[in-house]
Amino acid sequence: MTTVPKFVIGNWKMQARHEHGLQLARDISRRLKDAPPPPHLHTIICPPFTQLDGVHQALKETGLPHEQLGMGAQDCYPASSGPFTGDISAPMIRDLGARYVILGHSERRQNHGETDAIIRQKVKAATAAGITPIVCIGEHLAERNEGRAASVLSTQIEGSLTRGFRGILAYEPVWAIGSGITPSRDELQRKLTLIRALLPMRLMTDDIRVPVLYGGSVTSVQAPSIMSIEAVDGVLVGSASLEAQSFLDIIDAAAEATTPQPSP
Ligand code: PEP
Repeated sequence: MTTVPKFVIGNWKMQARHEHGLQLARDISRRLKDAPPPPHLHTIICPPFTQLDGVHQALKETGLPHEQLGMGAQDCYPASSGPFTGDISAPMIRDLGARYVILGHSERRQNHGETDAIIRQKVKAATAAGITPIVCIGEHLAERNEGRAASVLSTQIEGSLTRGFRGILAYEPVWAIGSGITPSRDELQRKLTLIRALLPMRLMTDDIRVPVLYGGSVTSVQAPSIMSIEAVDGVLVGSASLEAQSFLDIIDAAAEATTPQPSP
C-alpha cells in the first residue's frame, strides 16, 4: 500500500447556491461514509465562503478523519483582521472548519489582479492560521505555444511560494481550465517533472515533499490515466465536482489508479 497521500480536490467556485451546495455535500458524504476511499486518498471540498459552515457539518457527519475528507476555502485575505471591507481572513475560514485554502487560482490572478507577491502573502497568512495552502500555477496558451511555459512556471513558483513552503501545488494550465482539453500524458509528465525540479530551489531544501496536483478539465474519463502518471499526486477538479456522481466517480478512479493491486 502506498504511503504517499494522493488528493482529489473539488473547487465549486461561485457555482452552487446554498441548498444545492449543502445537498451536494450531503450526497458526497453519504457515499463516502458507506464506502470510504482508501486512507491514502485525501478528498477536499472547496465550497464558496457562504457554505463553509454547512458543508463542514455535512462532512463531519461521516465520522471520517479530516485528512481523509476535508474542506477548503477558495481564497483568504493576507491580513488576519482589520478594516478590510468585504474580505475574509484565514483565521475566519479556520473558525468554520476549513483546513485548506486555494490560493492564486488563475481566475483570481485574472479577475482580481492577484500577483505572485500577493499570493505569497496569503500563503503566509494561511500557514500562520494552521491552514494548508493549495497554490495554483499554470501558463496561458500563448505562453505555452511560444515555448515560455518553463519560465512562467519558474517565476510563479519563485514568486508565490514561501521558503520552506508546506502546502500543495496545483499545476493548472490556463488553457485547460473549463475548455474540455487536457494535456497529453507526455506533456503532463514533462511539466510535472520540471515543476518538481524547480521546487527544491524555492524551498531551499529537497527534504520537503510538496504534493503536485494537476487541474484542468478533469472528468472521470481522464482521471485514471492522469492519476496513473507517477509525478501526479492528485487532481483539482472544477466543473466535474459540481455533480455528486461525477465527483464520486473521480474519487473512485483515483482510488483505483493509486492503490497497488495484489500480485496474482
Ligand atoms: C479549476 O478551475 O480549478 C478547474 C480545474 O476547472 P475545470 O475542472 O472546470 O477545468
